[in-house]
Amino acid sequence: MSRVLIIHTGGTIGMTRTERGYEPNGEFFRSAIYGLSDLKAADIPQWDLVETEPLLDSSRMSVHEWNKIGKIIADSYGDYDGFVVLHGTDTMAYTASAMSFMLCGLDKPVILTGSQIPLFETRSDGRDNLITSLMIAGSGRVHEVCIYFGGLLLRGNRTMKYSADGMQAFTSPNYPPLATAGISIQYNEAAMREREEEPFRGVQLREVQRE
Ligand code: ASP
Repeated sequence: MSRVLIIHTGGTIGMTRTERGYEPNGEFFRSAIYGLSDLKAADIPQWDLVETEPLLDSSRMSVHEWNKIGKIIADSYGDYDGFVVLHGTDTMAYTASAMSFMLCGLDKPVILTGSQIPLFETRSDGRDNLITSLMIAGSGRVHEVCIYFGGLLLRGNRTMKYSADGMQAFTSPNYPPLATAGISIQYNEAAMREREEEPFRGVQLREVQRE
């Protein structure tokens, strides 16, 4: 059984409604996600959850958060088969792109995802985005940084956000999807990055220096 680390960084997926609008709510998210029966199904990899502090709307993220996320992945790289990063959609494509250059020698899946509607609201797209990301991260088929959103697995550094209200919020105009999730998950092997030829030795984090 493969093991996946979920890294919750903030964004709509883990937000609840407050009088100031939607805000990240770690406590609510933690208690709710541990109670989600879908995440205990036999075909879901074993998972652990960590959070970055503070949880942020992704429009407030900077290279400081990129370094934090990268460090969590690098420090726990040997303990997991894959990583799912829960992230706000506004800057998800930038973080995915940065991660693809920061994690040198990466040979395991790092799947960024989030949602347009908070996970525990009616009609949330977060459930499929989270569950399918976990399955992809545990599949052993992907060896790079990707965004999974709205049924598409896209190469992280070829992706852009193009819709603020559609459930398919991301596109990759210059590169085909690495997988599409319909009734089953169809991987596009020809488009995917091949495994490193050298056997696994770990990942080296190249931190981004702040100006
Ligand atoms: N403003 C939110 C964020 O980027 C939007 C979202 O998650 O969809 O954190």
